[in-house]
Amino acid sequence: MDYYPPDERKNDVTNENEIWEMAKVNLQKQLGFSEISMNLWFGSMVLKVLTEDTAYFQIENDFKQNIINTRYLDDIKKVMAEILGFEVKIVPISIEKDSFEAKLAEVITKENEQKEPYEKKAPETPAVSDKSYLTREIISNEEGTGTVTISRTSPNFLPEYTFDNFVVGNSNKTAYTSARTVAEDPAGPEFNPLFLHGDPGLGKTHLLYAITRELTAKHPDFNIIFVKGEDFMNELIEALANKTPVAFREKYRNADMLIVDDIQFIAGKASVQEEFFHTFDKLYESGKQIVLSSDRPPKDMHQLEERLRSRFESGFISDIQAPDLELRVAILKRKAQNLGINVPNDVLMYLGENIKDNVRQIEGALKKMRALAYIQGEEINMSHAKTAVNDVLTNMANAVTPAKIMSFVSSKYGIPEEDIRSSKRSKDIANARHITVYLIRKLVDMPLASIGKLLNRDHTTIMSSVENVEKQLKVSPAFENTINEMIREIKSGT
Ligand code: ADP
Ligand code: MG
Repeated sequence: MDYYPPDERKNDVTNENEIWEMAKVNLQKQLGFSEISMNLWFGSMVLKVLTEDTAYFQIENDFKQNIINTRYLDDIKKVMAEILGFEVKIVPISIEKDSFEAKLAEVITKENEQKEPYEKKAPETPAVSDKSYLTREIISNEEGTGTVTISRTSPNFLPEYTFDNFVVGNSNKTAYTSARTVAEDPAGPEFNPLFLHGDPGLGKTHLLYAITRELTAKHPDFNIIFVKGEDFMNELIEALANKTPVAFREKYRNADMLIVDDIQFIAGKASVQEEFFHTFDKLYESGKQIVLSSDRPPKDMHQLEERLRSRFESGFISDIQAPDLELRVAILKRKAQNLGINVPNDVLMYLGENIKDNVRQIEGALKKMRALAYIQGEEINMSHAKTAVNDVLTNMANAVTPAKIMSFVSSKYGIPEEDIRSSKRSKDIANARHITVYLIRKLVDMPLASIGKLLNRDHTTIMSSVENVEKQLKVSPAFENTINEMIREIKSGT
């Protein structure tokens, strides 16, 4: 995550105070408070750390922290957004029992633990991992006719994830066109199932949401179930534990359309694959549309059952590749426009040339520049762009980076980093290499080919390292514990 230890920011940006002072003026208006009330609740509150997605405030005691948490979070969020031009999460931190720095470290470790591996670097789109959004619950299915409700508990539900907002270029044209076709004419023979695959951050989830939105707008009664592969798996495990597999089955098999984002999560888990296989067949046979996304094509999902693979391959498969320069600049222009910021051409080119692999990083850089420019009271310029690119690409000091993972594994197993990168094949070295690759893949948003470059290997070798570890994980709970422990340690920066 994008975290600045307070002291290291001095040269960069120091104006949290001013921001908070301005925000407080609006807050007072908004709440209609007297000076005395303002002072009572907010007088000692200090904006200590501002990142691109969170504002951490110091509060003098637990009592006030509690009051702010229960009463004023939304108001503070609103006035901060008015000043910054974008929303940040508000996190009050009480210093009654410990120093701000100690508490902050605790909070950040917790936040990191809660984030999911592949969504890790997407603080700007929290709703992607928010299960409660867009879950449609069947409230009456006794006669097999599902009435559905959509719960939209998240206020910032990806309003921007539409077809109109998807910038089309050579690398994503086929995926875009097939998704559009499915949204216009579900369950046509050619596009069922539709299988989209590509590296993280290239727009798969965006397209799946766009399909959902378009269809929901046109056919409000259409029962679309949108689920992440991981959630499907967890829900099934829970249903089996609670002995309610029938309700689970009915829910899924009554869908008019089933969309599973990140289906790769079900590979390797026999009971989940079994259940998914039957769901798939039932829906397919009743002429219902199925849409799947994955970080790899079916042929590379080596732990996928053959019968599922052949079904995944029976419809239309499209990949999404990393955008070329032209598309990157087009996306930049569109995002800048959506964010309401004016970005000079040289800055656009600089960003386009430097941020290559992941569209999510493009957005991150734009928001970062906007915050820097705002805070320094300047128009966006090259110096903001350089800082933003640097931050986004190194993903900030505190975050998990491939370099950190490499050095962690190296010291844990006592194997020099050169050996991990080398072509040496001794068992210990190969094992450390597999684990390094697996951890990078799991903890960092990075395409296989880029991991390959880091380790002097091609992407198929990288994939087989990942699979090697996945296989060991399946058979050895002890190994699983070791890996989980390593993940925990890496995330907490120890
Ligand atoms: P994936 O699911 O493939 O990991 P996402 O769909 O979450 O990627 O996309 C990451 C971010 O990049 C999202 O904010 C999405 O809106 C944006 N994005 C990706 N591709 C495009 C595109 N072609 N046009 C506009 N935005 C895009
Ligand atoms: Mg996704």
